[in-house]
Amino acid sequence: MTAKVRLYVEHPLGAGQSVPLTPPQAHYLFNVMRLGPGAEVLVFNGHDGEWAAAVEGGTKRGGTLGCVAQTKALQLPPDLWLMFAPIKKARTDFIVEKAAEMGAARIMPVITAFTNAERVRADRLRAHAIEAAEQCGGTVVPQVDEAQKMGAVLDHWPEGRRLMFCDEALVGSGAALLDAPRGPWAILIGPEGGFSPDERARLHALPFAHAVSLGPRILRADTAAVAALTLWQMALGDWRGFSGPATAPI
Ligand code: SAH
Repeated sequence: MTAKVRLYVEHPLGAGQSVPLTPPQAHYLFNVMRLGPGAEVLVFNGHDGEWAAAVEGGTKRGGTLGCVAQTKALQLPPDLWLMFAPIKKARTDFIVEKAAEMGAARIMPVITAFTNAERVRADRLRAHAIEAAEQCGGTVVPQVDEAQKMGAVLDHWPEGRRLMFCDEALVGSGAALLDAPRGPWAILIGPEGGFSPDERARLHALPFAHAVSLGPRILRADTAAVAALTLWQMALGDWRGFSGPATAPI
């Protein structure tokens, strides 16, 4: 038996609810997967959990599903943002895909002094985030922002959010995150060229920043993003049970 098709839809889900398919979804279900009326798929919309839905009918360009029963409650990711300096296209796509799988709530490309990337297409990145959420069983698609300057994001930093500043200059020292408080956080990963001296000085001086090392080797930015998400999820996120404050350090 093959795994059931999972689709992200922008439509309310509930018992008896009809859900229209977009042309690409109809193409995928009816031409690629060759599903017919009555076939069951799974759908989620980021609000109503996951639902089993049956194909009601369709053509090559459209169709509808009918919701049958809820199969999963909504599982919100922890309140974690991933800020990263965009790199080459395929590696940026990788970062977005992995961030969606790893449970970031918001993905923010930020332009730093040494960022050296082609134009960031947020709509393309959103499509990657949706695909990743569909295949990993998530019930939410992370928000993907347009690229913005890192300095501007720091100028308007929200009260109460902490920043896990991954500083390559700390290579080889301890990670020092395990005893940090839970709550809203953001991870910051620099570009291939690293952070400029001015940026590093500013970041270290921010009262909400926790500078961390990701071990004894310099990682590429895409590896660093996955490593940082892992470290954060393990220390402060949903790998150690959902909701409520940590009771004891690992
Ligand atoms: N060119 C830089 C490395 C940049 S690595 C140099 O040689 O120093 C890209 C980004 O990944 C960094 O800005 C940092 O955010 C993160 N990173 C990579 N390895 C790291 C490490 N060992 N500790 C902390 N952050 C790291």
